[in-house]
Amino acid sequence: MWSFATALLFSITWSTSAQTSSSAPQPALLLRPAAVFDGETLHPGWAVLTEDSKIKAVGPAAQLQAPAGAQVLELPGLTLLPGLIEGHSHLLLHPYNETPWNDQVLLESEALRVARATVHARATLAAGFTTARDLGSEGAGFADVGLKQAIDQGLIPGPRLLVATRALVATGSYGPKLSADVDVPQGAQEADGVDSIVRAVREQMGKGADIIKVYADYRWGPNESSRPTFSQEELNLIVQTARSAGRPVVAHASTPEGMRRATLAGVQTIEHGDGGTLEVFRLMKQRGVALCPTVAAGEAISRYRGWQPGTTPEPERIRQKRESMRLALQSGVELAIGGDVGVFAHGDNLREAEQLVRTYGLTPLQVLRGLTATNARLFQLPDRGRLQPGLLADLIAVSGDPTQDVAALRQVRLVVKGGVITKQ
Ligand SMILES: [Zn+2]
Repeated sequence: MWSFATALLFSITWSTSAQTSSSAPQPALLLRPAAVFDGETLHPGWAVLTEDSKIKAVGPAAQLQAPAGAQVLELPGLTLLPGLIEGHSHLLLHPYNETPWNDQVLLESEALRVARATVHARATLAAGFTTARDLGSEGAGFADVGLKQAIDQGLIPGPRLLVATRALVATGSYGPKLSADVDVPQGAQEADGVDSIVRAVREQMGKGADIIKVYADYRWGPNESSRPTFSQEELNLIVQTARSAGRPVVAHASTPEGMRRATLAGVQTIEHGDGGTLEVFRLMKQRGVALCPTVAAGEAISRYRGWQPGTTPEPERIRQKRESMRLALQSGVELAIGGDVGVFAHGDNLREAEQLVRTYGLTPLQVLRGLTATNARLFQLPDRGRLQPGLLADLIAVSGDPTQDVAALRQVRLVVKGGVITKQ
């Protein structure tokens, strides 16, 4: 997350008929849209057949026959595509212009935060995101593990979650910070040195972490810029400990040195990367580390601080992001797509893709591949992100052609998760 404090008000309400179901066998679905985007390419006139929780067949509509008992869904004018994958969310946070991050961590009970998170999960799924990497509970302990279980058990609607639980920070580097005389609960778990770090990583994995999230740099004091936190040796150890248990590590980093250390340690993705240089982006590309730039979070925070795009001068933070993104694109580093949702409203996940197109010059096709096949590959999720026989039947149908206009992804008409219709 990116912390900040301010107040201003807006809200977004999402309604959905989302329902979930148990793992009972599902009737086959034959979906007949105007076109199918399979994660790579648009195929007009194709259809998709699902069976139980998986995709059974994909191809020209004339070649797909509905088996006995199948439900046939005619979807004229719609494009069918893989369920979208959110690369960076915090279901246990809500927008900072509603409540500053410090107050969410210190003043809101875990019960309140979990109750909110169930609403956030529903909104995320209704927006067409059937998977989310949820990168830290931000002071809500292991509540994300229970939230994931509630979704998996069909108690509440929501995306398939990859959770990071508490996340790891170097002692003293994170927040909230009050006076030096008071120790307050922190937004992540503090750990330092060999023994403490190995124990913390193992504890998080043992309690359900799918991912280890580490803050490779942060602001040590309130009015300074970020500086590295963990040493190279500590980061190496975190990655080694997680990797031997089959878990990837993702790093929050925005300084060249924090990014460099995280890259050398072998993290899967670097989150934010606002101060990245051409040199460090090239190193990331060389080492196969992807950048999740979270442009929407920085934009949201600048707006909360009073920036009105087109009216008031562009803040330094936005100017810097524009420059670092130019360098990132020049370097050829791979981009994961994730908005740091929670800084802004859950369900408004598409903001990231929209801004990548509008402000940073990506094409609608690039972000569409990014939200589906590319995110799946980068996050090592070979069972989703494409429409192919044998993969999970996570699909959405949207109005219009999202390969031409990313805004079409706002018009979600159907969400199928694991072969079950959750929104229609
Ligand atoms: Zn975050």
